[in-house]
Amino acid sequence: MSPLSMSPLAAELHAIIAASGPIPISRYMEICLSHPIHGYYMNRDPLGRAGDFTTAPEISQIFGELIGLWAATVWQQMESPQPARLIELGPGRGTMMADVLRAAYALPPFRSALCVHLVETSPALERGQRERLGDINVPISWHRSLAEVPAGPAIILANEFFDALPIHQAVKHADGWHERLIDMDPSGRLAFALAPQPSLPIAARVPAHLDEEAEPGAIFEWRSSALVKELATRVCDYGAALVIDYGHADSGLGDTLQAVSRHRFADPLAAPGEADLTAHVDFAALRTAAGRAGANVHGPIEQSVFLRRLGIEPRAARLKAVAPAQAAAIDTAIARLTGASATGMGTLFKVLALGDPTLGPPPGFDA
Ligand code: SAH
Repeated sequence: MSPLSMSPLAAELHAIIAASGPIPISRYMEICLSHPIHGYYMNRDPLGRAGDFTTAPEISQIFGELIGLWAATVWQQMESPQPARLIELGPGRGTMMADVLRAAYALPPFRSALCVHLVETSPALERGQRERLGDINVPISWHRSLAEVPAGPAIILANEFFDALPIHQAVKHADGWHERLIDMDPSGRLAFALAPQPSLPIAARVPAHLDEEAEPGAIFEWRSSALVKELATRVCDYGAALVIDYGHADSGLGDTLQAVSRHRFADPLAAPGEADLTAHVDFAALRTAAGRAGANVHGPIEQSVFLRRLGIEPRAARLKAVAPAQAAAIDTAIARLTGASATGMGTLFKVLALGDPTLGPPPGFDA
């Protein structure tokens, strides 16, 4: 491929690889998603039917409303601190926060205690969030990272956030685990490659039972645990966090890196910066890292179980009673959020809660 026919981001990746050699998949993901000018999230709204993918809050208002009631109950468990920070990581279009805050009207002292903090790297999405939440009568501030949010009692929400954080991959060979890299092939196309030497620090990350079961060629994925540790430290400073994402309850082997464009799977290397890149969340790894950092860890449980325990069915019935014309659409949305079929999110998506060790189990985890 000639550099002239490439997108600006592909050309930049080629230049980086030509100058300093193949790059880890984590660096590739980071550049594709967060490059300040050409990164996927930086200059577009990828959500909704006209975009590349849809998320639970965009499917039904009930999702965010139930999370709002969850947060209100957690705030009471925390003995109603004033002020209380409500932090959301990667708020997308601001839809979930709008629904959370509407549900918070049910508990006026909670709503009036709230300071909302949105952690968002994308200027384009931040603009949309400011529009969506502009006339809501609660103080809201925006931050580029969680570290910028002031300390203090907090409830933290993250829906479909961790899946966008960069992953590393390694491949098992007879001599050990080699990091999987991205290189250029002789025709100038981006292609997967392997680090020539096996890595002992990588081997040390692979759980012993997976190392034993891994055949030659097996792939193991991991993410930096820095952010989950930061969440755990914050909740121990008083509060709780709710992490909802697609992924697996136990660590496993396999390549889950995926590109999605216009609601279809795409080749992750074909159009850097033009498609969403994500990978399954390893909830066992989150559990371990958060537990080591001192937090109480609850779950993961399946999204269908969590939403049912929070009362999605009676809430849908009430909504249908006031809006009978919407009944079929509401049923479809609930089936999508809780269903176990290929398009359903009920079992693929998991929910994990972290809390200060003095707090009891949050709603949904107390069964
Ligand atoms: N939670 C929303 C959006 C999910 S898409 C929903 O459920 O609809 C992922 C979101 O995380 C986007 O808002 C994206 O811009 C943001 N994001 C991705 N990586 C980020 C990072 N490292 N820091 C902060 N925000 C990030």
